[in-house]
Amino acid sequence: MTFAELGLNPAILSAITACGYTNPTPIQEQSIPLVMAGHDVIATAQTGTGKTAAFVLPALERLTVKSALPGKGPRILVLAPTRELAGQVMESARGYGRGIRPRCGTLLGGMPYREQLRLLSAPVDIIVATPGRLVDHLERGSIRLDRLEMLVLDEADRMLDMGFSEDINKIVSRAPSDRQTVMFTATMGGEISRLAENMLREPKRVELAVRTDSHALIEQRLHVADNLTHKKELLNHLISTAELTRAIIFSATKRDADELSRELSRNGHPAAALHGDMTQMARNKTIERMRRGGIRLLVATDVAARGLDVTGVSHVINFDLPRFAEDYVHRIGRTGRAGATGIAISFASASERNYLERIERFIGKKLPELQIAGHEPTTTLRKPAGRSGGPKKGGVPTGGRFGKPGAGKSGQGTSWGKSAKPAGSAPRNTPRHEPVIEYRSRRPQV
Ligand code: AMP
Repeated sequence: MTFAELGLNPAILSAITACGYTNPTPIQEQSIPLVMAGHDVIATAQTGTGKTAAFVLPALERLTVKSALPGKGPRILVLAPTRELAGQVMESARGYGRGIRPRCGTLLGGMPYREQLRLLSAPVDIIVATPGRLVDHLERGSIRLDRLEMLVLDEADRMLDMGFSEDINKIVSRAPSDRQTVMFTATMGGEISRLAENMLREPKRVELAVRTDSHALIEQRLHVADNLTHKKELLNHLISTAELTRAIIFSATKRDADELSRELSRNGHPAAALHGDMTQMARNKTIERMRRGGIRLLVATDVAARGLDVTGVSHVINFDLPRFAEDYVHRIGRTGRAGATGIAISFASASERNYLERIERFIGKKLPELQIAGHEPTTTLRKPAGRSGGPKKGGVPTGGRFGKPGAGKSGQGTSWGKSAKPAGSAPRNTPRHEPVIEYRSRRPQV
């Protein structure tokens, strides 16, 4: 199938051609005709499938016909969980809409109101917003949704995970009931089904099999770690190897991201943190610095890094495993982009065994375990029958996980210069005596 066969306006078609796309992706091929026909749609698709264009193109198609309704409110509203994702959707809308020139903009938390109020002071075609800020505008009376024709929820499952369900309900209650609603989600769960039931009218379903196998160019490895100190040793080893040119390191919390990036910087590595406590401007600056090569190691939380598109990332390192298996797939997709190969390395301690099992069930394979000579774990996570495999119990340090420079067994910033080898062949070290960090189960960080 070609884009022309989808019946899109010539102005949109030429923008697609300018992007270099020749054919629609499967999600586009299935969703675009349904959305263009005016149906409510719930689509299961992940980042990287072309899902953004799957709703942006039919939304733009709507805008080729003038609205008969008076007022200034948006005709199309896209809700997205994070500022980064919202920014990318806006960029796509501007790119694919260059021949139509819709009036559009973003309403994002953490950004100044002045510009947003200016945007809303004249009739607007497309608004891409994070739910919290949109509710703020609704409550201030600075936006009305009575002209709304199409509501899109991008990464709806993620918005629910982040606790936006109340905000979404508020927004929906202010939207006209004859609007079209399109929902994209990476996963289908009970909560998503309930949301869909409340929001969609006789929806058409588009289900793309979860692309857990879509990372053929990414080599995935696992390192078992005894504790935090051991994780830091492994990290120091990996970042001292020449094959690592640029890495995104994922930590479980915003605080950990800050502390780890500070520690890496102290040890002479060009590093920075990326998380949701940073202002949008600071986040953009950091991403830009990484793109320009000023940052080699970016320590990020899941939500902040979602949708992050930086080429040349040779490694993704999961310093902490994600709680949600889908996040693992999103994380490793930050490397191996644009046809390049990439390496995704996960550290797992005994307290993360459940997460590891969840990930492996989700991706349908076991992560191959490697060990680094001189840094072998004393812990085993793959239970041989009859062995507990867990590490010794220990206390939780009080001053944060990364607070003490030089606390590592072998010191920080050391280059070991040894290569990794498959687990099983390594001589085992004497047991470590550092306290074992007991990981608390954490809510996903924004
Ligand atoms: P998304 O899943 O929307 O984040 O899109 C993933 C990537 O695919 C983006 O970089 C898009 O620019 C690109 N893309 C979207 N549609 C197509 C297409 N039909 N052909 C080639 N690339 C596409």
